[in-house]
Amino acid sequence: MVARVSLSAVKAARRRRDQAVTACCLAAAALGDPDLSGHRRSKMLMNCLGALTATFVVGEAPTMAQFRRGLQGRLGDLLPYEVRVEGLDDVVLLDDVGQMSDEAWDLAAEHSVPSAAFEEHWPWARVATEQEERRLFEVMRRMPQADYTRARELLVEAPSGDLRKLRRTWDNLWGRVEPYEPIVQWNWCQLQGFWFPCPACRWPMRVTVHGTVADIRCEAHARAGISYTCRVGGFSDRAPTLHPAGHDAPRVRGVHATAECLAVSRAVWRYVTLPGMLECELRDHARAQGAEVTMWPHKDRYDLKITLGARVWKVDAKAWASPVALADALRERESPEPGLIIVIPDHQRSSASLVADAIRPAGYRLMVMADIKAAIVEAGRETR
Ligand SMILES: [Zn+2]
Repeated sequence: MVARVSLSAVKAARRRRDQAVTACCLAAAALGDPDLSGHRRSKMLMNCLGALTATFVVGEAPTMAQFRRGLQGRLGDLLPYEVRVEGLDDVVLLDDVGQMSDEAWDLAAEHSVPSAAFEEHWPWARVATEQEERRLFEVMRRMPQADYTRARELLVEAPSGDLRKLRRTWDNLWGRVEPYEPIVQWNWCQLQGFWFPCPACRWPMRVTVHGTVADIRCEAHARAGISYTCRVGGFSDRAPTLHPAGHDAPRVRGVHATAECLAVSRAVWRYVTLPGMLECELRDHARAQGAEVTMWPHKDRYDLKITLGARVWKVDAKAWASPVALADALRERESPEPGLIIVIPDHQRSSASLVADAIRPAGYRLMVMADIKAAIVEAGRETR
């Protein structure tokens, strides 16, 4: 009986947290959408503030003026004290030009809760992302193991490209999985008819124009120094020249955005390509230490198995925007692989112990990328 009470209390606390996060993200989306009419924006903000207020103790919720001001700042300052969460506190929902930041969209999708207050305004709910990912995996799971592994590799190696080249690369798998969309339909990544692949992940970088200058950055790799600026204007058939703005921005050539240019959808890039890059990086690192590595050994039961001497690591890499939403999703997963290690990127280290504690009872361990790499080097030394 006691256990049941505490479980429902945990669920209620989590719902409260997700509702507060969703309300703030949706309100930021409304404020940052220049196409929304004033009337509709006010209505959305009212609904969101109503949903946020319901997560506060009576009398402590922000006023509308405080709410609007707070949406320009840190997410943590808008949430009730008890639902503040490490890893989300410092997220800024609106970027410096007043648009909803990309990270905020992912947070919103990962935390979104069904609620009558949100439903009419929520076209891009988490469900849509999950369904797309699930459909892709359903198709791939029916493939023989070798084809499945090759398809997973290709989603990492070729997240964008020219139709003819992609068709050659995918060879007999082409047409059996359909993760690509035409880049020409995505305005957010084009400048004067050109798009720019990120030098790290090869997916289109986001273009934001401020007056006569454009800012070009990869949503996932800008924090690693991959960002550029570019002068806007002039009539030319030549690709605009990018100038490095971040500290690790190698030369990038613009690609003419023709109907033949394709890229994987945002959901596939976020939840398949990006973690796949971590997995491939770990594979190459482990092999360099003399380990035997099998990628996606049982299709999607887990991602890679590393054997070095007497040591075995079974690993799943994850690249969620919200570490706490990831922990919740893992806890809900049925029958986890015994001893599975969840690996998260180094920049999420500050949330690592929180997530590790949350998923330990479900049988998972958590490591950040740099730590598992170090453990493999150590094991390599012992076997030599
Ligand atoms: Zn990138």
